[in-house]
Amino acid sequence: MFKLDGKIALVTGGSRGIGRSICEALAEQGATVVVNYVKGEAQAREVADGIIARGGKAEIMGFDVADMKAAETAVEEVVKKHGKLDILVANAGISIDGLLLRLKEEDIDRLVQVNLKGSLACARAATKAMMRAKTGRVIFLSSVVGEMGNVGQTAYSATKAALLGAAKSIAREFASRNITVNAVAPGFIDTDMTSTMTDQMKDFIVKSVPLARTGTSREVAAACAFLASDEAAYVTGQVIRVNGGMYV
Ligand code: NAP
Repeated sequence: MFKLDGKIALVTGGSRGIGRSICEALAEQGATVVVNYVKGEAQAREVADGIIARGGKAEIMGFDVADMKAAETAVEEVVKKHGKLDILVANAGISIDGLLLRLKEEDIDRLVQVNLKGSLACARAATKAMMRAKTGRVIFLSSVVGEMGNVGQTAYSATKAALLGAAKSIAREFASRNITVNAVAPGFIDTDMTSTMTDQMKDFIVKSVPLARTGTSREVAAACAFLASDEAAYVTGQVIRVNGGMYV
């Protein structure tokens, strides 16, 4: 089950953390994976080389998802090279935390540009290609805080909540073309993004998780692999929460 042989996948922000695990999981299932990065070329190369060393297929592609033209061109290049794009995982994201009263305008702008506009830019370019093929999978990386909110994450959580609305709307727009669009909403996952938190902050969060631990990138990637598969053909406009019960 969940085999992806012959599928072409683009994973934005595949160089580190959750994106890296998604690249590895999709490749393990047989997909050819395009590993996107913005700054971490060496890390993206390492992800692709690791996949290839294990017998999988991967390549790297650097572009800033917040640059709509660059995202469009990147998707066009993937389609030109491989003849199609079956799976887009819009995973690239940043977090800039701060209480609303302390957030700077440029922080709010950057969060919206990368997390929201970047995901929409990639989805727009990808669905254009998928529409012609009359099949496709789009997966957005939202967050538990997009549904439950969090002190100090007003702007970040707003972008993640917006992705849920976007996934549901795009799912409706493209259902007749056999393209499914879903979101995965992780809870507290150990990655670079959460590494700046103090042990005290981590302990506090873990206390609010019924499964009493942080999640792993692989656990998030498994949900993406399912949504990308043929077996998930009847799942669209949905949110899969990988959060240890933190929000139910
Ligand atoms: P991470 O470790 O900080 O990695 C972020 C990835 O996004 C990197 O590969 C980075 O590429 C890429 N990226 C950042 N800005 C980009 C841009 N403008 N264009 C292209 N790529 C860009 O983050 P993570 O924890 O794995 O999070 C992945 C996703 O899951 C994010 O959308 C995040 O909001 C979401 N999420 C994470 C958690 C968590 O607890 N970690 C919880 C809920 C949701 P470079 O290496 O090139 O910088």
